[in-house]
Amino acid sequence: MRAGGQTTVIQRVLERRAQQPPAIQEDTSSTIAVMLRCLPPPRALLAVSDPILCSQLQGRIAPDMFEFEVAADDTAALHLFSAEFRPVVLTDSLELIRRLRARPSERVPFIVYIAELDEDREREAGLTAGADDCIGRRSSQTELRARVGAARRIAELEAVLRIALIENRKLSTTDDLTRVASRRFFSKHFPREVERGARHGRALSLILCDIDFFKNVNDTLGHAGGDQVLAQFGARLQQLLRRGVDWVARIGGEEFAIVLPETGYEPALDAARKLRSGIANKPFSVQGKEVKMTASFGLCGLDRVPAGERKIPEHMLKVADAALYRSKHAGRNRVTATMLTDEAR
Ligand code: GH3
Ligand code: MG
Ligand code: MG
Repeated sequence: MRAGGQTTVIQRVLERRAQQPPAIQEDTSSTIAVMLRCLPPPRALLAVSDPILCSQLQGRIAPDMFEFEVAADDTAALHLFSAEFRPVVLTDSLELIRRLRARPSERVPFIVYIAELDEDREREAGLTAGADDCIGRRSSQTELRARVGAARRIAELEAVLRIALIENRKLSTTDDLTRVASRRFFSKHFPREVERGARHGRALSLILCDIDFFKNVNDTLGHAGGDQVLAQFGARLQQLLRRGVDWVARIGGEEFAIVLPETGYEPALDAARKLRSGIANKPFSVQGKEVKMTASFGLCGLDRVPAGERKIPEHMLKVADAALYRSKHAGRNRVTATMLTDEAR
C-alpha cells in the first residue's frame, strides 16, 4: 500500500465503511435469530456403553438442549444413524467415532468423546479417532454445559445454513447444476413472454423436453454421473437455439422448458427437431465414458398470441405437456407438436 495521498484516504473510507456493517447484515442476523428460535432442539445420539454414565449424562444435560436418543451399543448407534442423520453424537466409544467418520456422507455430525479418565492422552485418542471435542466423565456441570452448548450451537448453525441454502436456491433465477433458467424464473417470465406476444400480436412457442430413461443413468453411473449428463444437457439445448432470444429453463429433475419468442408453429417444429437430433446424435461424456442419451419433446406453437386472454400460459403448458406425453408413449426420442389455433383454445 502506498503511504499518504489518495490511496490512504480511500483506504480509510473503506475501513470506516467496513466497521459499519450495512443494513442487510442486520436483517440477515435477525433472520438467523428467528430461524434459530424456531428450530426444534437438535437430535442427538447418546451412545455410551456404561448404563450408569448414560443415565447420569441424560440427567445432567438439560432436556431442552437436545432431543436425545440412546443407543445401547455401537451397532445400534450406527443403525440409528443410518436411518436418520443426527447432528450431534456423544459417545465413549472410539470405535464408533472411527466408524462414523469413515461413512461416505454429505453431512457430518459433531462428535463429543466422553473420556473415562480425562487425561491428555485419552483426549488425544478421541481427537485422533475423529471427535470434535472431548469431555471427561467427571467434569463439572459448568464444563459439561459449555461444551455441550457449543456442540448444540454448531448443529443449529449447520441446520440454519442448510435451510438458507435451500431457500436461496429457490430464489435463484438460474439453476445451479445446469446453468439454465430456474423453474422460478420460468414461472415468472413465461407469462411475461405471453403478455408481450399478445401486446404485439406476435408468435410464441413452447417446447417441453424430458430426458428418456434418465433413471438408468443414475442407476448405472451414479447420481454424480447423472448430474454430469444434466449439466451438459442444459448447455447443449442452449447451444442449439438462437442466442439471446430463445431460452431454456429446468422445470423439473430432468425436464426442461424451451421458450421460443416470436416463433410460430412451423419454425418451432424445426427447432424441436433440431434439439431432438442434437441430443440423440452426439453422446454425452460422463467420467471419461461416452453415454448416448435421447429425449422426448412436446411442442405447443402459437402463430399469433391472442390479446385479452389470461389463461394462455397455463394452456400452452398443458398442451405442450400432453404432446410430450404422446412422444413418450409413442416410443420416446421424438417430437410431438400441436398448433394452438383460435378454434383449439
Ligand atoms: P422416462 O423416459 O419415462 O422419462 O424415464 P425416466 O427414467 O427419465 O423418468 P423418471 O421420472 O422415472 O426418472 C427421472 C429420474 O431423474 C429420477 C430422479 O432420481 C432423477 N433425477 C431428478 N433430478 C435429478 C438430479 O438433479 N440429478 C440426478 N442425477 N438425477 C435426478
Ligand atoms: Mg421426468
Ligand atoms: Mg425422463
